[in-house]
Amino acid sequence: MRSKANALKESGARVINFAAGELSFDACAEMKAGALDAIHQARNRYTPPLGLPRLREVLAQRVSERTGVTFTASEVAVTAGAKQALFNACMVLLDPGDEVIVPTPHWETFPTQVRLAGAIPVAVDTRQDDYRLTRRAVQTAITPRTRMLVINTPNNPTGTVYQRQQLAGIAELALEHGLWVLFDECYRSLTRPGCVHHNILSLCPALKPQTVLVDSFSKSQAVTGWRVGYACAPAQVISAMHNLQGHTTSNPSSLSQYAALATVTAGSQAFADQLAPFLQRQLDKARSYLDPLPGVAYAPAEGAFYLYIDVTPWLGELYRGEQIRDVDHLSELLLTQAHVAVVPGSGCGDPSSIRISYALEPEELEEGMHRFVQFLGLVE
Ligand code: PLP
Repeated sequence: MRSKANALKESGARVINFAAGELSFDACAEMKAGALDAIHQARNRYTPPLGLPRLREVLAQRVSERTGVTFTASEVAVTAGAKQALFNACMVLLDPGDEVIVPTPHWETFPTQVRLAGAIPVAVDTRQDDYRLTRRAVQTAITPRTRMLVINTPNNPTGTVYQRQQLAGIAELALEHGLWVLFDECYRSLTRPGCVHHNILSLCPALKPQTVLVDSFSKSQAVTGWRVGYACAPAQVISAMHNLQGHTTSNPSSLSQYAALATVTAGSQAFADQLAPFLQRQLDKARSYLDPLPGVAYAPAEGAFYLYIDVTPWLGELYRGEQIRDVDHLSELLLTQAHVAVVPGSGCGDPSSIRISYALEPEELEEGMHRFVQFLGLVE
């Protein structure tokens, strides 16, 4: 969809890109200052594979403060974005044939990384449970081969945030069955007012020996291209990640690490505080277009910056005489006819929905929503 959207753009069309998984904002000021400073100080050399010792130390301190569970530097790995942290975790923890519970709809990368590690993703449909994994659903999916459970909150693609009780129940079950929990909280600072992000270890500290926490600067600081994130896990796991990372990518960019160090050290809330009202306004705007549509439904939009819209009422219907076959076809028509790029749910293991990002420039959002609604209005 991205390459088709780009091709259309190159041909001169004004495409509204609802498909991007990133903020339209400039990077956070501390990140920029930290990177510039690192350039001027010629921080051009390799760092240790798992990152600057000082950065690991400060991250350990910050994660300990916010979770209430103590971490040391030896339990932190700095990685090229959350994606590398997740990949390394799969590679070092999974064996061929292991099963991994992946709540669905899911970010496309989760099952792919599980497969790359030779293991088997087991999709657990969350749609009937308000797009959140329940203890009951996990219980049903567990087999003797289950080794790991993925939890992503706030969630991509749905935008939902896991509730306290739900997470605590899943944590208990993971503990009982000795499952690894891969806890991806890279959107944790991006919740809408009134929605609270919960960290699974804060709710269940006993789970620490079998948990990998994954976080990133990409989304929270609007630096998706800088490639810096981290994992917190038991020291043995981090040490295995060291072996893997040392022979694959080595350290994440030194400049990005210094930028991250400046940001984490400053510990400022200013950027998140600036984002929160902006994202709420954008969400309200997007909803003002969707809510009047009869039959439209979307997942609880509580965090990240995604609206996950159920488009089943439009599947099988006619658009200008052409039957809309499925969600991929609908997405393609939206792109070619309305010049609006969306993410079809098929890539997220769900053939009934599409994902749009509302973290666009305000005028772009208005224009895109207008075209989207107009398109749906033409479907008979
Ligand atoms: N985890 C989730 C749930 C994501 O949506 C993304 C990016 O879209 C990532 C991880 C990867 O983030 P990063 O840019 O830090 O690799």
